Amino acid sequence: MKHEYKKVEYKNIPLFKDVTEEEWNDWKWQLRHAIRDIPTLEKVIELNHEEKENLSKTLEKFKMAITPYYAALMDKERKDCPVRMLAVPSLDELFVSPTDLDDPLHEDVDSPAPGLTHRYPDRALLLVTPECSMYCRHCTRRRLVGEEANENMGKNKLELAFDYIRKTPEIRDVVVSGGDPLILSDDKLDYILSELRKIDHVEIIRIGSRMPVVLPQRITDEFCEMVKKHHPVFINTHFNHPKEVTAEAKIACEKLANAGVNLGNQAVLLKGVNDCPNIMKSLMHELLRIRVRPYYIYQCDLSEGISHFRTKVSKGIEIIENLRGHTSGLAVPTFVVDAPGGGGKIPVMPNYLISQNKKRVILRNYESVVAAYDQPHYVEDHDTETCEYCQNERLRAKDGVAKLLSNGEISILPENLRRKDRTKK
Ligand SMILES: *Cc1c(COP(=O)(O)O)cnc(C)c1O
Ligand code: SF4
Repeated sequence: MKHEYKKVEYKNIPLFKDVTEEEWNDWKWQLRHAIRDIPTLEKVIELNHEEKENLSKTLEKFKMAITPYYAALMDKERKDCPVRMLAVPSLDELFVSPTDLDDPLHEDVDSPAPGLTHRYPDRALLLVTPECSMYCRHCTRRRLVGEEANENMGKNKLELAFDYIRKTPEIRDVVVSGGDPLILSDDKLDYILSELRKIDHVEIIRIGSRMPVVLPQRITDEFCEMVKKHHPVFINTHFNHPKEVTAEAKIACEKLANAGVNLGNQAVLLKGVNDCPNIMKSLMHELLRIRVRPYYIYQCDLSEGISHFRTKVSKGIEIIENLRGHTSGLAVPTFVVDAPGGGGKIPVMPNYLISQNKKRVILRNYESVVAAYDQPHYVEDHDTETCEYCQNERLRAKDGVAKLLSNGEISILPENLRRKDRTKK
């Protein structure tokens, strides 16, 4: 069966019936015409009186913006359309769950310079703009997104972030994110990437953008030419549902891949959208076809106003159980829970190791076959003294269990361990 990629149809939608193809394919036109109010939205999808009332209540607290392209992808009648759920505000957003947190990942706390989060030893997250082409209803950074491009991210503040990266030689990987960095002009992005490239110890640059999904027209030839100058550049995008993989999205991703960009996908596990192993499997297959490698599936964060999207963590484990072994390893991302309080991403997966002794490890596979792997009788230790990589200070783990494994310390203790108060003084 030949797979058809459909272009999004917009001519049959009243709001867009007079839009020319040239306008439609112009990302700046798309941005200018993002849907921000109810009367405009009503010209795209059916809304009854109650829905409109609810929408207007939600809009008092949270802003709406939907690109015309993404709006045209929504089902006109069905409220449970996944694209619609990710785009159209819901009354549930006003419900603040007692477990919601304002900055669940402590991105503002672990921040040595404005817009910069340096959580992991060798990589940093740089938020270059709070703006996005559309406001995803499930956004984890909704505390920032859509703020007027404030002084926080101006050129001077960016300079402070660059300064920090310059004087921090451990940082070899910079994740450029936001908001959506691709809302910035090619010139501004060129400037940011050039400044990062000037820093010797920055080995790779990553960009996080949802544009290939919500505004694929943004991926122009000019943009690709600009990015090419700064390789190695990786782009992680954010598809959540197979319906988002359209002809336009395919063209955008192929352009990026042809420009030598390595493409990854970070999906979020969302109730009612993709909390189904078969939807997820289909999404992973669709992504590979357009040359995007599934990278992460995130457990939904504890950000305010998105609790209606949360699933149990066990759903993520079930999804991985349905992928690993059942389909290409390339189609299996890592399921992660981003630990509240700044603990970072923690991978979670089914248990495959059943038991072990000195001689054997007992494993189970995806079919429930239980297998014994005979361990080698005797293995000489790796000689760290003569290994030049082990002698390389930059490569050695400085924290955590990895460090515990490698040196003489015998434990890692929590800071506020009460037992400490009871020990002999
Ligand atoms: C996710 C994230 C990164 C990148 O993590 P990887 O696991 O390397 O993709 C870096 N910094 C912060 C603060 C992050 O949240
Ligand atoms: S594009 Fe990303 S940062 Fe912007 S609203 Fe969507 S999820 Fe949030």
